[in-house]
Amino acid sequence: MVSACLAALLATLAVVTALAGAAPASSSVDPGSAQSPIDLRRSQITFVNHLPAIRFSYPRKADVTLNNTGSPGEESTVRAEVPAGAASITLSGTRYTLQQFHWHTPSEHEINGHRSAMEMHLVHGASDGSLLVIGVLIEQGRANRVLEPIFADLPAAAGETRPVAGVRIDDLLPDDVSSYRYTGSLTTPPFTEGVQWIVLAHPITLSKHQIHAFQALFEEGNSREVQPLNGRKVLSDAGRHNHGDRD
Ligand SMILES: [Zn+2]
Repeated sequence: MVSACLAALLATLAVVTALAGAAPASSSVDPGSAQSPIDLRRSQITFVNHLPAIRFSYPRKADVTLNNTGSPGEESTVRAEVPAGAASITLSGTRYTLQQFHWHTPSEHEINGHRSAMEMHLVHGASDGSLLVIGVLIEQGRANRVLEPIFADLPAAAGETRPVAGVRIDDLLPDDVSSYRYTGSLTTPPFTEGVQWIVLAHPITLSKHQIHAFQALFEEGNSREVQPLNGRKVLSDAGRHNHGDRD
């Protein structure tokens, strides 16, 4: 399926290149200049003492529906769909409702060129349609009890769904939510820009077994490569604890 998909992509690129004539193909196929994910390089980050606080209204327990999205390549994932209005955050006076969370392997964002084993994306939307995604890097370590009811039985087949009751949404994130913030895009087609990204500086862990359970479903990975920063500003409140740790 992947090679057929690649062939189709190459055919599309060939057509686009032909249509573009002497113009560089990238001007026709480039989805934009403010894309995600990115490599969060220390030298390109503006560290500040305080960023606007995120107020979390995540519930103690929520019933989610897992959905193996079944699309090819980087679009495929297992998504946990959250009931409308069950969870939200407020940032700078705007309320963003948690719509779904899902995973990528390996991580999409990098920190100083380091890719984590996985990354979780919590996708939030405001009433005006604007999107805010919280990215959480996942390293191999202790088993994750909050995610165990999900990872113990991931829907393996494309299109398969499974309800999971009582997921402790309020315990999904690390205690320290210092972060890197920038404006980027969706990491899957149509790569829509104007997405607010909050990538947490501190990872959560999954056990080797839990990570393998996900990777077994997406053996070739389901992550987009990092995209150029193109002069965008990345703000962070994560630098204050590790002055002198320069790399
Ligand atoms: Zn994602």
